Amino acid sequence: MELYKNQELKIYNSLTGKKEIFKPINEGYVGMYVCGPTVYSNVHLGNVRTFMSFDMIFRYLKHLGYKVRYVRNITDAGHLENDADEGEDKITKKARLEQIDPMEVVQTYTVDFHNILDTLNFLPPSIEPTATGHIIEQIEVIKTIIDNGFAYEVNGSVYFDVHKFNETHEYGKLSKRKLEDLIHNTRALDGQSDKKNPQDFALWKKADPQHIMRWPSPWSDGFPGWHLECTAMSTKYLGETFDIHGGGMDLKFPHHECEIAQNEAAIGKSPVNYWMHANMLELNGQRMSKSTGNTINPNELLSGNNDKMSKAYSPNVIRFFMAQSSYRSVLDLTDDGLKASEKGLNKLLEAINILDKLNISNESNGFDISLWKEKCYDAMNDDFNSPILIAELFNAAKYINQIKDGTASINSKDLELISNTMNTFVYDVLGLKKQQGGTQDNSDKLGDTVEILIKLRAEARANKDFALSDQIRDELLAIGIQLKDGKDGTTFSTN
Ligand code: AMP
Ligand code: ZN
Repeated sequence: MELYKNQELKIYNSLTGKKEIFKPINEGYVGMYVCGPTVYSNVHLGNVRTFMSFDMIFRYLKHLGYKVRYVRNITDAGHLENDADEGEDKITKKARLEQIDPMEVVQTYTVDFHNILDTLNFLPPSIEPTATGHIIEQIEVIKTIIDNGFAYEVNGSVYFDVHKFNETHEYGKLSKRKLEDLIHNTRALDGQSDKKNPQDFALWKKADPQHIMRWPSPWSDGFPGWHLECTAMSTKYLGETFDIHGGGMDLKFPHHECEIAQNEAAIGKSPVNYWMHANMLELNGQRMSKSTGNTINPNELLSGNNDKMSKAYSPNVIRFFMAQSSYRSVLDLTDDGLKASEKGLNKLLEAINILDKLNISNESNGFDISLWKEKCYDAMNDDFNSPILIAELFNAAKYINQIKDGTASINSKDLELISNTMNTFVYDVLGLKKQQGGTQDNSDKLGDTVEILIKLRAEARANKDFALSDQIRDELLAIGIQLKDGKDGTTFSTN
């Protein structure tokens, strides 16, 4: 029997502001849509955090036995600078600056995105549709919205009529904004815009002559508005109403609010039963963001090649660090935090590693394994509370060490139970990568090896054996490992 039949999963629904019991539309099946990246530059760790939260959610739903169709799109057209309706397309701008075709930009950063996610052990989504691959579907949605009276055309562009929509629907219900407040808080139109009201948003934009990414439509040669692709693609692959829609918190408004409006205007139904928003990753107390430059890329963290952290961290450490806080909390990325996660993770993996070396007794003593297993599920069933799950995994690790030390015991049936449960949650649900022949990643081992060499070099220096200390530094550099002497000692980076 599928696990989900015995489990009561609760999900925090951003639309209602409550934790609700999860009931999919079709029993046994889950449709989940997550807004993917705009592929105009390398993903940063903030982006990664949001996608990792949903990777864990996808993994747990699958573990419960649901057949999950997980759709995560690639935004490769229509996303303008400042997330606005005027200005240059982010991808076109990059193409202009680098003097390459926009689709070369798209290809470069899509490949980068996939490589990073692969390194970090993500499961691929079931479908990964692109905006440019669904222009026809988007045009069809616009036609329906116009026919239903909620959009208007001006000079070849089409805008969603937010004021008209709000007469019969509730614009702002997800982000808890009222149209009156939005009117107060927005500047009046500057006469340049074709919009009736500043709150209206573009469904179709007529392309300027120099705009390369353009498609024919009934209104003009142009391109779709940014919010439209997600409406067209989510309903195409998941149905008019589907179970879960996710994305980063910053997408709640206007992006997701506009998705709801588009769906209701086109189909007459609210698209999503459970809206889920992942919270932001910060760096030094400030949101990681491409626009402010306060970012660190996954590769910089993996190689240690950055000026923010003291060393390199492995993919498993990054995953574990992120899972140690709830997807709904703000998380600050710090060197100390990563170091603590690395230590904790090694402790946990060591405990799993000695499971098959433990002495088996006739009776178990010192730990209620069935109750512990239940608590692991309770944690994940409580809106995917991974930090509580990890605390439970540490409780089990403590018990395992007690068995090793002879202060607790375990029988063979319980050993199998604890072993299966640990493996399930650590590898299948949290998505850590199984290491062959040891507890540590190769990158951890590399780090430890370099630390030994750094120590030997310090000893050589203390003995005034500068020939040897220079030899260690130079030979490491020759194989791409650079030592950096600072006031807190020597650190290293790899390239
Ligand atoms: P973008 O490529 O800018 O459209 O962003 C892709 C995803 O990353 C969106 O779901 C954003 O909400 C998310 N995101 C952007 N910055 C951060 C951050 N600092 N922390 C967490 N998620 C973020
Ligand atoms: Zn979206």
